[in-house]
Amino acid sequence: MKIAVIGSNNVDLISYIHRMPEQGETIEAPDFRLGCGGKGANQAVAASRLGSEILMVTRVGTDLFAENTIANFKENGIDDKYILRTEGSSGVAPIFVDEQSNNSIIIIKGANALLSPQDLQDARADIEQCQLIVLQLEISLETVYAAIDLGKELGIPVLLNPAPAAPELSLERVKSVEFIMPNETELSLLSGMPVESIEDISNAAHVLLDVGIKNVIVTLGVRGVLWVTAEGEKLIEGNKVDAIDTTGAGDAFIGCFSHYWAETGDIEESLRIANLYAGDSVTKYGTQTSYATASEFKEKYT
Ligand code: ATP
Repeated sequence: MKIAVIGSNNVDLISYIHRMPEQGETIEAPDFRLGCGGKGANQAVAASRLGSEILMVTRVGTDLFAENTIANFKENGIDDKYILRTEGSSGVAPIFVDEQSNNSIIIIKGANALLSPQDLQDARADIEQCQLIVLQLEISLETVYAAIDLGKELGIPVLLNPAPAAPELSLERVKSVEFIMPNETELSLLSGMPVESIEDISNAAHVLLDVGIKNVIVTLGVRGVLWVTAEGEKLIEGNKVDAIDTTGAGDAFIGCFSHYWAETGDIEESLRIANLYAGDSVTKYGTQTSYATASEFKEKYT
């Protein structure tokens, strides 16, 4: 199965510190890690590890982080044909985590902000070969809208993960997507409705169905996922696990769902499997480091 992921990549620079510094203060970090992230890259890596062929359309800079990102894509079996270069900085995220697990994150969009509608046109002949287009909101909205329009023109279903929450996203411009996959916070922002109870979430999902979106799939953390369509709704329970680190769970879920749905076309079964996969990822530390390969996943869950 071939999936086009049109989106971001980041290098996470994670400093583990005793406490957050005061203004003007210099402190020492006893531990430091460099990780590959970005919602687009995370979702692509999860789907690739499960066996999908990924067409990754993304931009990196001309700094040393770019080399790291390209090497990581290659290690994960993702072709670099459309890993495009922009003069300047790659997407970088300095992250500070203190002993109480509080974090402060700064996102430098860098090259991600420059992925353009023209880049999609340049990749059009390859995108045309894909069964699904997967999008998030860490690139410009103009490019997100162009990708949705291209999907419609080519007859390729589009999955939009409206994250991070973007108040300026126009529902009217995204109404042709096959799947929208927000978490509760993103759904509340998109719909302008409360999301306290499952009934609230369902009502909020109907705001998105009313503009014409076919499937609203709301991830609910430990509770699993609510799938809402004009015909009805289904709560698909989460995987009961001892969670130690939930970062990147949403991306694991989307990468896994994309892989299985592109392969089978069975939404409910793909959601069930994605709950298992994302649940497995929260039992391990890190983001991409917590995503199982197809054989690791099969060994645990079949
Ligand atoms: P993040 O931003 O951390 O990636 P998110 O807010 O986008 O997360 P969530 O709704 O928290 O996404 O989680 C996505 C999916 O991950 C859930 O639908 C579920 O399948 C799984 N998951 C998350 N947390 C847990 C948990 N504690 N136990 C089991 N499964 C979990």
